[in-house]
Amino acid sequence: MSKSLTSEKTPTWNGVAKLVRITGCLDTTGLPFTGVCFTCKKRFHISFFDAGHLIAGRSNVLLLTRKFIKIQCRFCNRNYGGRPKRFRRYMDELHGAEYMERWVTRLRGWSKSARFKDKDIHWKERRQRYERMYKIIMRKHGYKTWTELLQEQN
Ligand SMILES: [Zn+2]
Repeated sequence: MSKSLTSEKTPTWNGVAKLVRITGCLDTTGLPFTGVCFTCKKRFHISFFDAGHLIAGRSNVLLLTRKFIKIQCRFCNRNYGGRPKRFRRYMDELHGAEYMERWVTRLRGWSKSARFKDKDIHWKERRQRYERMYKIIMRKHGYKTWTELLQEQN
């Protein structure tokens, strides 16, 4: 892997995780700094959320497909291993079981195949796109920095 690629990957992953956390909070409470955990349905401050993935793994397709990433509290994500059964059940309720079955099969296949390997991803464009979306949301809600957002209280 080229050096420039390595330096783009982590910020891109972090970018998507940040974006998912803000949009997840907004979608569940209307506030950018408070959200409801996808799997335990409890309300937490954004600082207590992780980007939770439907399918465990570190492949690009799993880490970058926003549709299947939801905000999860640290209890669910770290202490309960992401609660995969519950995660799936709620996704089925949200999108329909048939749709989800099709997508899970697809994502599992892609994460094992040669598709969406590092060289297939336009890292810089993705990172910039996430940054743009993040900035638009932050500006819309009157925040300049992530730190500023984290300091907001529930
Ligand atoms: Zn939770």
